[in-house]
Amino acid sequence: MAGAPDAAPGVSGDLRDRIAARIRAEGPLTVAQYMELALWDPAQGYYATRDPLGARGDFTTAPEISQAFGELIGAWLAETWRQAGAPDPVTLCELGPGRGTLMADALRAAAARPEFRRALRLHLVEASPALCAAQKTALAGASPAWHASLAEVPDGPLLLVANEFLDALPIRQFERAQDGWHERLIGLNAQGDLAFETKAAPDRVFNRPWPPGSMAEDRPAATDLARAIGARLARHGGAALLVDYGYFPAAPGETFQALARHRFADPLAEPGAADLTAHVDFEAFARAAESAGAQAWGPVPQGRFLQALGIGPRVERLGAGKPEAVAESIRGAVRRLIDPAQMGSLFKAVALTRAGAPAPAGFAA
Ligand code: SAH
Repeated sequence: MAGAPDAAPGVSGDLRDRIAARIRAEGPLTVAQYMELALWDPAQGYYATRDPLGARGDFTTAPEISQAFGELIGAWLAETWRQAGAPDPVTLCELGPGRGTLMADALRAAAARPEFRRALRLHLVEASPALCAAQKTALAGASPAWHASLAEVPDGPLLLVANEFLDALPIRQFERAQDGWHERLIGLNAQGDLAFETKAAPDRVFNRPWPPGSMAEDRPAATDLARAIGARLARHGGAALLVDYGYFPAAPGETFQALARHRFADPLAEPGAADLTAHVDFEAFARAAESAGAQAWGPVPQGRFLQALGIGPRVERLGAGKPEAVAESIRGAVRRLIDPAQMGSLFKAVALTRAGAPAPAGFAA
């Protein structure tokens, strides 16, 4: 856990009490406001205070499972850069780089294309001080610049990559009753505990053609981001690759979840102590990017995407000459990424390019 503080019981109590006090003073919070506080409160927010990744943390991500993931993405970036006319310089931007593992693996693979390696300028968008510190160590040789948001990243030809970033952006939740949509809010029950309640939502806040009884989620921060990336690609060219768990097409449903120590937890029980996420609506993301002038590709299931990029032969090369137990553990890690019953199908990759650009690798019809 890279020297980050552990989720000591009691530590999150203060944040819960501060959230309760705010609800008493200002009324119930939207789920998005609650996520923002639980994840990013500077003193006790989940991401603001720790490195949550890995076997001893709360969850594990694809780049932490196998180096093949970042290496194949590095080759994808180099090839997509060539397809985009090899702009030099080009901004290589990662959103939410975690420990920097994906980018370190990608840059190692990109060393095989020296002209790409020389052209790229690395920009990282990261809000967690603990993870910025880990990235600084992992990417020391690559002179990255850090930013709090994409808006701060210099404009120009762009290659952007993000793995498990969108799922952490705050969502709002809605329920369809007989008389229309109601927003799910977080207030206090009679015992003073955090509890869900609902309030009628005007059509301008949320409206989808789904029947009474439906739950639905909306993620304005993701659609805003899609439009910002799409507008940059339309102006200057380049490409973006975003991988996450989620669904396509858009559909009603409830996916808000809390994860602590690799287990599902109650999202309201201990704000700051659990990761809060929701599945990504890839259709909403792709349509928003297109509305800004970009072209969206996919989403393609992660297993199919990685196989199209050659993960099979890559794994055999990684295992070659190693003791059988090591080769088998490399194969097992990759099975976890591509097996539809594990991460291969729930996780999906979406790409964005300038309109009219050729299909990026892994996204051919
Ligand atoms: N991409 C990494 C980490 C995924 S966890 C991996 O695959 O291992 C989500 C990452 O996004 C973390 O680095 C987290 O700190 C960052 N993050 C989440 N929301 C953010 C936001 N609004 N602004 C900046 N960084 C954010």
